[in-house]
Amino acid sequence: MNQHRSGHHDSVYLDHAATTPVRPEVVEAMLPCFTHTFGNASSIHQFGQEAKRALERARETVARSIGADPAEIFFTSGGTESDNLAIEGVVRAAGREKRHPITSQVEHHAVLNCFRHLKQTGRGVTYLPVDRFGVVDLGDVAAAVRPDTALVSIMLANNETGTLQPIREIAAIARERGVPVHTDAVQAVGKVPVNVKDLGVDLLSISAHKIYGPKGVGALYIRKGTKIAPLFHGGHHESGMRPGTENVASIVGLARALELATEELPRTAPRLAALRDRLERGIRERIADVHLNGHPRERLPNILNIGFEAIEGEAMLLALDLSGIAVSTGSACTSGSMESSHVLSAMRVPPELARAALRFSLGMSTTEARIDFVLERLTDIVARLRHMSPLHAGGGFRNGR
Ligand code: PLP
Repeated sequence: MNQHRSGHHDSVYLDHAATTPVRPEVVEAMLPCFTHTFGNASSIHQFGQEAKRALERARETVARSIGADPAEIFFTSGGTESDNLAIEGVVRAAGREKRHPITSQVEHHAVLNCFRHLKQTGRGVTYLPVDRFGVVDLGDVAAAVRPDTALVSIMLANNETGTLQPIREIAAIARERGVPVHTDAVQAVGKVPVNVKDLGVDLLSISAHKIYGPKGVGALYIRKGTKIAPLFHGGHHESGMRPGTENVASIVGLARALELATEELPRTAPRLAALRDRLERGIRERIADVHLNGHPRERLPNILNIGFEAIEGEAMLLALDLSGIAVSTGSACTSGSMESSHVLSAMRVPPELARAALRFSLGMSTTEARIDFVLERLTDIVARLRHMSPLHAGGGFRNGR
């Protein structure tokens, strides 16, 4: 089993949904691109051609991993750019008659803020609601699609809760009406099988740094025949869809990371799910008044989002950090702002419980021993914080008079 040593001695990293370390095989694949295969892939001479071959091999690898044709893969600077290119690019190309894009209330900000921008530029935008598990309703999708709909963009797996959306069914509904479908698969690739033909989507976003590849590189699958306009203007790189001298080293890293993640998926998914279940079971056995945020079955194997009644997630995060355990709060907030999660609020999680949420995201370095250590520390921390909490029965500074 591939085991990354945790970057810091005696620390437990449970924030793999935020980012992952670059695995040694990926570093090894990338290194020659900095020094030996350094050419500009657009140059005619042998240096350029060598870089070009590395680039096209990477394109083939990425295509093969998701069931696409190499001509349908476009390299970008990451998940955010892939999402922007897909959404803005398709909406711009759709023209004046098709001004209506559809998304969900639980998307990553890379999608949500793209839609906010579209709305500011005068387009009527639909944000589909979700049920208490975070799942979009197929009837709502069918009802939202109109003759002027330009695009449906719904994520494959949610980054806060791990909930999976029924993308195959959503895509069937939209495409039947001639509407292109984009899915943000940034959290899904390498965790669940992702095949563009099987899903029936037209566009799909990937990011390398969630799958043990480098940061700042991603890919967008664009099905042949999809009408889309580039966002950047420059040279003819990436068929003019994404101009700029290709970042060959990072692209090679992305391809190697995706290749390995896809190959290893049949082993990693059950391993992660078993560890996730051990963590969830352990929390339920040891700690009262906890709530699962997300779907109990239709979910990623590596994300567990739990609300601990009467405690602030932020306080738990800091206490865990002092024990060397890295997790994240339910809210995607940058530290300092206490805005609660738009995902949990769309799921009707009460605000006080949304603020009490922690996201544990497991990965290669996670072991049973590390999960057990986390359970031990977490149990103590929750007991201590609840004891001080004025919100918790039996604890805190309640006035006895
Ligand atoms: N979409 C989802 C679902 C994510 O979790 C992330 C991660 O941050 C992104 C998009 C953005 O990807 P990137 O960090 O590569 O821009």
